Amino acid sequence: MEQILNELNPSQREAVEHIDGAMLILAGAGSGKTKTLTARLAYLVGEVGIDPANTLTLTFTNKAASEMRERALKLMPTKVSYPPLLCTFHKFGLLFLKFHIEKLGRSNNFVIIDSDDKKRLLRSIAKALKIDLNLSFIASEISKYKNSLLTPEVVLEKAELPDYKKVAKIYEQYQANIEENNLVDFDDLLMLTYRILDENEELRRETSNRYKYIMVDEYQDTNELQFRLLEHLCSEHDNLCVVGDDDQSIYGWRGANIRNILEFADRFENTKTVKLETNYRSTEPILKAANALIEHNSTRLGKKLVSHKGEGKEIKLLHSLDESMEAKAIAHEIHDLIDSGVDPDEIAVLYRINALSRSLEEGFTKEGLAFKLIGGMRFYERAEIKDIISYFRVLANPHDDFSLVRIINKPKRGIGKASIEKLQKAAFDVHLSLYEYIEQSISGKLPSVVSKKVATALAKLVEDIQLLRDEAKNALGNFITLFEERIKLKDHYAAMVDGFDRILNIDEFYGYFRDAVMKNPDLTLDEFLNDISLQSDQDQIEENAITIMSIHAAKGLEFEHLFVIGLEEEFFPLLGEGSNMEEERRLGYVAITRAKSDLTLCYVDSRFYKGRRKMIDKSRFLGEAGLISDTSLKITKSSAFKKGDLVKHKIFGIGRVQAANKSGKEYKLLINFGGNKKEILSSFVQSI
Ligand code: ATP
Ligand code: MG
Repeated sequence: MEQILNELNPSQREAVEHIDGAMLILAGAGSGKTKTLTARLAYLVGEVGIDPANTLTLTFTNKAASEMRERALKLMPTKVSYPPLLCTFHKFGLLFLKFHIEKLGRSNNFVIIDSDDKKRLLRSIAKALKIDLNLSFIASEISKYKNSLLTPEVVLEKAELPDYKKVAKIYEQYQANIEENNLVDFDDLLMLTYRILDENEELRRETSNRYKYIMVDEYQDTNELQFRLLEHLCSEHDNLCVVGDDDQSIYGWRGANIRNILEFADRFENTKTVKLETNYRSTEPILKAANALIEHNSTRLGKKLVSHKGEGKEIKLLHSLDESMEAKAIAHEIHDLIDSGVDPDEIAVLYRINALSRSLEEGFTKEGLAFKLIGGMRFYERAEIKDIISYFRVLANPHDDFSLVRIINKPKRGIGKASIEKLQKAAFDVHLSLYEYIEQSISGKLPSVVSKKVATALAKLVEDIQLLRDEAKNALGNFITLFEERIKLKDHYAAMVDGFDRILNIDEFYGYFRDAVMKNPDLTLDEFLNDISLQSDQDQIEENAITIMSIHAAKGLEFEHLFVIGLEEEFFPLLGEGSNMEEERRLGYVAITRAKSDLTLCYVDSRFYKGRRKMIDKSRFLGEAGLISDTSLKITKSSAFKKGDLVKHKIFGIGRVQAANKSGKEYKLLINFGGNKKEILSSFVQSI
């Protein structure tokens, strides 16, 4: 234990040794906030003698939670009776609801739906109500209502503008629908938990007495609901320790409320406030740029941050003509790093918006560079994986109509759309779930509304579902083998053009499932389903490859070598409706401060976006960070075209450059396409 304290500076040590009462640790990036929190947990358990079961440590991503758990466990005495609960807010909600959702009259075999399912459900409700509104808008409005604890009834009553009235109607049906199917969405995990605690004083006291020491990392990203939940959790003791950085608040668009930090000391009497002012992560030039950039924000608490590492390499700027040149240039630099012995885990490429990952993926694949993409099209969102998940959901809960409809004719059983609609209507008329209705109609208890052929197919499906449900109730050791034997999903996908890839994905998923069962032989199907629903963007099967991800996903992480792409007006800062310059700048600050010693900021002259090529200016952030003075770059690497280069054009195909002249921001190229000479602007060709 002495060892832990010795690794800390005096302010960090002071925070670790503070035991009772509220504490706010407010400090800039890389100052050891997370390290302090982990050390404090270990101190409470290993030195003070607090039962680990009486602690609760919350954060925002699974990856951050598992890293913290690892760090804390290493610091703890080997014999802890019970590992401390260290997880995301949502995971905490899930665990809580498993025990207490019955208080709301619901059963605890609920299943979590992800944002994709949520949108599909909203789409079908909107269609039935003949409402034509943007689905993302509807989804985010509903999410806001839930985070403000507004029920559909209240929203219906309050809505005045026509569009909001429509959203309210959809919200009402959406909520009824998910409750009927015993589903919960991500927002419900927090909202229902809060509601139960709010309505049950006895349980609130019990829960607060159970979690006597509560800690929260990345506190600047909590919203109103999370704050109120925390208030309930610490109602009996006020032993709440939060750490955060107002300059890294990047979830304003999702309702994060910076007031939670600003008003913390007012809300909790005798709050101890600790500031950490040494940055241990980054070298001087990186920190200097980050500080210079964030100073342009006006709404800040203002903090000092000095580099412990001191001198280091200057930040590099990488200028390319377009996104494919950019990807190529970065790939070359990364190959050089890896060849010189750098561990790929220490290399990352970040972007502001997910759409920018495509050119990287394409370019890196072409250059033979292995990478793991975090976010983007997630593994669990692929059609074949969602099919298996839907099957599992039906097996866990046959009354989940939503999932049943997805798989009822997959693989093809000759149950067409018209038959499905007839079945849905008939089930609705007699107030049964689709599955119940099907079961009763094939056993003759209810009249059939479909042809004999369809009825036979349904009977076989019900038989398979029952058999697999029975198997799942015993143990899951042999479940996958039986599942594939009965359902034959692989055969279904094998016939498709990209069948090979899909089968690889299916096998990967099956392997993952078997592994989970091996690790936990008591695993149940709904536990498994809920766990995978909660896997955030940051979770991926680890492999030895560089990482590419969004800045949001990179929060709290650090890399020795870092590239940030798209430092251009419009992409970063993201401009347009709803854009908030101060939040963009905070994102810039988060991005830069992920780098330990080697940072490259990249920008291009033109990007292909939303179907067309656009000329763009470099980001104002480069100037604000003191990296360029007006237009002259301190260090520039230009990837230019020259005579003799081979290039590819969308229409004319492959040609060779015969002359290249700078023309404004780009090059005018004279290209010989197999004898056909054309003068073309460089942004319209790719080098090959
Ligand atoms: P962020 O704001 O990005 O979440 P943070 O404040 O949580 O950053 P940490 O990730 O805890 O910072 O620490 C940043 C780096 O500095 C880590 O590599 C950590 O091990 C190191 N570090 C923190 N405190 C010390 C210390 N007292 N001595 C040496 N290294 C330290
Ligand atoms: Mg941290």
